[in-house]
Amino acid sequence: MPTPLLVANWKMHKTNTDGTEFLNTLKQQSWPTDRQAVICAPFTLLPLLQQSSQGMTLQYGAQNMHWEEHGAFTGEISPMMLTDLGCTYVIIGHSERRQYFNETDETMQKKVHSALTHNLIPIICVGETLQQRRDNITNQVIKQQLNTALTSCSTEQLQQVVIAYEPIWAIGTGEAATPAQAQAVHVVIRQFVSAATQIIYGGSVTSANIQQFMAQPDINGALIGGASLEAGTFIQLVKY
Ligand code: PEP
Repeated sequence: MPTPLLVANWKMHKTNTDGTEFLNTLKQQSWPTDRQAVICAPFTLLPLLQQSSQGMTLQYGAQNMHWEEHGAFTGEISPMMLTDLGCTYVIIGHSERRQYFNETDETMQKKVHSALTHNLIPIICVGETLQQRRDNITNQVIKQQLNTALTSCSTEQLQQVVIAYEPIWAIGTGEAATPAQAQAVHVVIRQFVSAATQIIYGGSVTSANIQQFMAQPDINGALIGGASLEAGTFIQLVKY
């Protein structure tokens, strides 16, 4: 069984002062040794995480990156810039990136390949809209997203990626999928990767519902937005 992986997605939240306060609270806690905790922070907080996470059982990463190493891409961040700051993870293809910044399955594929080439673990986000679920094409949508995103991955690389199943209708709405709905899609995702690959669920996860998700055989962790912003709640989620 893969180690449970709890990933905070801070989105566009927190100044340096907020981040420092959060990490100071975390430092006062004892961490379970059988969990992996990750914070995916805004780029501006990565140097703080690099300094402050030393000696803690905490890894960190970014929420996006460009696939090229360098070049004339104003406003972008490269994989080398992330590894230079000690990042281990990077979220790829979050639905908010698709919705507001025109990201596609094809750009996701380039980013996944680039992340793996630079020793970053891509957290690859897939998920259906409410309409797609109503139309009964959830599995089809997920398969298509994964087919494109994972095209260039070797068998070995398929063990290194993390897949996040995030139904778009459940993100930030307070309306999580049922554990059974999530498990059913995780089974579909499992066919693309190995038994050792971490497949995590995201979408309105809270300290009240996390245990039910983690009790499912193919759910190996959670990607947590809103509920990860407060240190005390994040600690509870890690220690579920
Ligand atoms: C997310 O941002 O990936 C997410 C799942 O957000 P929330 O937990 O707020 O639904």
